[in-house]
Amino acid sequence: MRRIAFITLGCKLNYAETSTYERELLKEGFEAVPWSKGADIFLVNTCTVTEHSDKKSRNIIRKLHRQNPEALIFVTGCYAQLKKAEIEAIDGVTCVFGATEKSRIVPTILSSVRGEECCGLGTSTFFPAYSSGERTRSFLKVQDGCDYKCHYCTVPYARGESRNIPIAGIIPQAEAIAAEGIKEIVITGVNTGDFGKTTGETFFELIRELNDVEGIERYRISSIEPNLLTEEMIDWITSGTKFLPHYHIPLQSGCDTILKEMGRRYDTAAFADKIRYIREKTEVPGGPKVFFGIDVIVGFPGETDELFMETYNFLRDVIRPAFIHIFPYSRRAGTPAAERKDQVQDCIKTKRVQMLEDLCVSLHKGFIEANKGVAEKVLFESTDKKGQMEGYTGNYIRVSRPYDPELIGKITDVII
Ligand code: SF4
Repeated sequence: MRRIAFITLGCKLNYAETSTYERELLKEGFEAVPWSKGADIFLVNTCTVTEHSDKKSRNIIRKLHRQNPEALIFVTGCYAQLKKAEIEAIDGVTCVFGATEKSRIVPTILSSVRGEECCGLGTSTFFPAYSSGERTRSFLKVQDGCDYKCHYCTVPYARGESRNIPIAGIIPQAEAIAAEGIKEIVITGVNTGDFGKTTGETFFELIRELNDVEGIERYRISSIEPNLLTEEMIDWITSGTKFLPHYHIPLQSGCDTILKEMGRRYDTAAFADKIRYIREKTEVPGGPKVFFGIDVIVGFPGETDELFMETYNFLRDVIRPAFIHIFPYSRRAGTPAAERKDQVQDCIKTKRVQMLEDLCVSLHKGFIEANKGVAEKVLFESTDKKGQMEGYTGNYIRVSRPYDPELIGKITDVII
């Protein structure tokens, strides 16, 4: 009863949390195995961001039970929070943990292998987590939940209210990551910039303290709402800190009508100003360009061809990001957008996704071209890919060079 397999769907927060369950269970003598090899216990960390994610989670659970009828199957994650009864009804599921029950997962699994009654659940408000296993980069969870109510999103219902532990509780985790020899931290949360709600602190205070952690040489912010990324913060980030010129910012739509209907907290003018400000503060002639990864939802209810083209043109002509993360709108029960009668047909969404994918390819190519010949620093990873090794520059360009074990985990100068 000690072979355990972990299956994670969805976001980096889920990966950080799974990695923490895994670390704790390995300390208790469990053996982690790939799920395809069969196991005594499975822990499935689900996602509910789209209908497709729900279905994928259900299919995996059914498959695990079919292939391992005797195994215990524990399920957690956002889908588990929203549709607990639906998951409990699937054959083979041992126990389902909602958002406030995550601190019970490891004790429950330990009880189960001792043959004890295991699913009487308590509650906890914040489950601290960070990922490890990869020797170069760790995802550190600093915040959970969201108090915004964007009209398409179920995450606030799945993960609950915005909350965090104090900075004083997060710094030791960053130090533990540094002690593992990991050089780069990706700061992760549901609404990361909203950090501090429950402790009377701010995200800016957090990043300033993290910057002083010895051994960590680079930080990225996994995603931050544009209204929470302040000019004061940008000024500080660009003043020679460990924070890299890499920003992942959700735009969702480049059309003010749609932004308003989505319940977002900015308009395109404010978004464009923010991007311009970051570029002005960060980029110098002959130096690296800032990497902007921008999230966009395609086919929100009421998005006509004209309104979609506003988004397309805004991205192509004004923002010009290095990458676009494109999500076709998914109708999620319980959200205001799901009730609307003016839903966009799937075939139209598919066409628009394709247009943005083509735009993304050309913008990304332009970004790489603009960085050619620039001096940068790469943190090389350990995987040997047919004699090559890879790593990311500060501005998130993936670089490949002949494999050299001496360079693993080292920050190395390169000319792109
Ligand atoms: S900010 Fe909006 S999209 Fe992001 S998790 Fe909160 S409600 Fe969802």
